[in-house]
Amino acid sequence: MALNVIFATPEAFPFAKTGGLGDVAGALPLALKRLGCKVSLFLPYYREVLLSRARTEPAGIEVSVPMAGRDLSGQVLKTSIDGLAVYFIKRDEFFDRSCLYGTPEGDYFDNLERFVFFSRAVLEAVKAKDLKPDIIHCNDWQTGLIPVYLKDACEDDPFFSKTATVFTIHNIAYQGLFPSSIYGITGLSPELYNPEGLEFWGKLSLLKAGIVYSDIITTVSPAYSREIQTPEYGSGLDGLLKNRKEDLFGVLNGVDYGVWDPLIDRLIPSNYSAADLSGKAVCKKELLKNINFELGDERPLIGMISRLVDQKGFDILFEAMPELMKLEAGFVFLGSGESKYQKRLEDLGRRYPEKVSVHIGFDDRLSHMIEAGCDMILMPSRYEPCGLNQIYSLKYGTIPVVRATGGLDDTVIDYNGKNGNGFKFREYSPKALTNCVRQALLAWKDAKAWRKLQQRAMKANFSWESSARKYMDLYALARKKLSRPE
Ligand code: ADP
Repeated sequence: MALNVIFATPEAFPFAKTGGLGDVAGALPLALKRLGCKVSLFLPYYREVLLSRARTEPAGIEVSVPMAGRDLSGQVLKTSIDGLAVYFIKRDEFFDRSCLYGTPEGDYFDNLERFVFFSRAVLEAVKAKDLKPDIIHCNDWQTGLIPVYLKDACEDDPFFSKTATVFTIHNIAYQGLFPSSIYGITGLSPELYNPEGLEFWGKLSLLKAGIVYSDIITTVSPAYSREIQTPEYGSGLDGLLKNRKEDLFGVLNGVDYGVWDPLIDRLIPSNYSAADLSGKAVCKKELLKNINFELGDERPLIGMISRLVDQKGFDILFEAMPELMKLEAGFVFLGSGESKYQKRLEDLGRRYPEKVSVHIGFDDRLSHMIEAGCDMILMPSRYEPCGLNQIYSLKYGTIPVVRATGGLDDTVIDYNGKNGNGFKFREYSPKALTNCVRQALLAWKDAKAWRKLQQRAMKANFSWESSARKYMDLYALARKKLSRPE
């Protein structure tokens, strides 16, 4: 019988997306389905889902979640995408907002209520729809309480007696921390709030909840799974992860080549392939025209598409800017996020208008155009759990220039004039970053060798199939652990 998987996520492309998790949740369930699993995807019904024009219909059930003495009802909506069942939990009070988790000024004040509601509503809906899951696959802190509810509130419920849990950490720095004074909102027994359970230095941690209570923990690249067991990258959870290292696995994210392939991409002005790169030159020209940016033909264009947060290396980038501005290259930045970075980027654009083009906002179309139209993509991340843009850029023949950390280190192989697919620097410093960009620009001057480098990069295959198989092996392991007596 097909393995029955519930995939619970706070975001999924093409319905709602802020970053890589959205892409993963949009593609992995489909890849699992292709391998024979029965998968149901669950996410909140945000305003963004409404704007995405997803055609939903009522799933025929209502859910009710007790919270702080009130019973909060939610509607369950349903759609399908390539035959995959997608369920939305709808409660406008929580999800009909302009952003998913918070505004550029900070997180929404009631995120605990919002995601307690979502987590409990998912379990209610799964039961009401009689979905009988073998696996519930949870993603990031927003779903970290689901394994706890399963072990605590649903422990004696025969419906879930054979349900194992897998929890994927997409970014350990986002922990879902809340004051202990509002623990009661979870409705969980007070005994679970202790340092071995849900408490993290005097606060409630939803990420820790997921790590402690799931049968298997995964993260999104092998390198990151090792890094998060160290104090430097573990954000205070390294000890806990080390204790659970037998249950912790790094599975590299794949790419949905149905969306990210220059040969079929409908968001770029001209399609192209490794065999015929002429369309890429058209994409560069059209991109420059679209963003109203003049750059001589002889200059390479370096792109960056990123959430504007500390993780992405903006501090060393800003420090490196005076040196980078001396180089013969243009830069195009697309980003949304923290207002302090938005402001600094806009300042840069004003200061160096002939070298820098800045676009603040979330713009899917422009992100595809930048992937296709640039010569290089820059990712100087302080840390990077997996990183998807560098993998997309390989496919687009847009050579990645990255810091060697996490998934960037796993996917980019340093170019040595003959082999490799990109450029890497290890030390987190403006100098190392500038040197690496210099090296890439030097290599770009040899057009013939560069073309070969592009063609090699474009041939790399990071499709979801092999990663989805690894998840299936881990699902089997989680089920085995569940059946093992303690
Ligand atoms: P993270 O998950 O940390 O944001 P990833 O590299 O894993 O980083 O994934 C980022 C995803 O979000 C990519 O699909 C990228 O194109 C997209 N993205 C990030 N910022 C923007 C933006 N401002 N506009 C459009 N797409 C963006």
